[in-house]
Amino acid sequence: MARIGIITCANATQDLGCSSVVCLADLRKRKGFFAAYPVEEPLELMGIMSCPGCPTLAGFDKFLQRVRGLTEFRVGAIHLSTCMKYLCPFQEKYQTLLADAFPKISIVKGTHAEHLEPAKFRELVQGLFSQPRRTMIDLIVSG
Ligand code: SF4
Repeated sequence: MARIGIITCANATQDLGCSSVVCLADLRKRKGFFAAYPVEEPLELMGIMSCPGCPTLAGFDKFLQRVRGLTEFRVGAIHLSTCMKYLCPFQEKYQTLLADAFPKISIVKGTHAEHLEPAKFRELVQGLFSQPRRTMIDLIVSG
């Protein structure tokens, strides 16, 4: 049995509302980056969690602390989500941190199949971030 953990991008999940539905669908269907597992090996999702957000240049330890939510449960592989692969400026550092701290865990860059070119995906995400949103500030300044 392959014991799998997934780490997603906090911007995608917490800011933009992704429920990881596409990652989980491809895991169930053994598509995308889950197609590489031998067909006779059952896939067990041990946990899925978002990154802790921007680590700054000084806070990479918070990423390692965060992934304890997966690493404490004998995962054999950690997948960095496809959105993280497309969006995250820290992904190489995260990969190195994980490989150094957990040499027995496979680190896989990607979850679901890549339906869009990275540049197109980033353009669409940029559109989501730049759409006007009403916040508490709108109440304060209109008060
Ligand atoms: S650190 Fe990377 S994965 Fe985490 S929220 Fe920022 S861009 Fe997304």
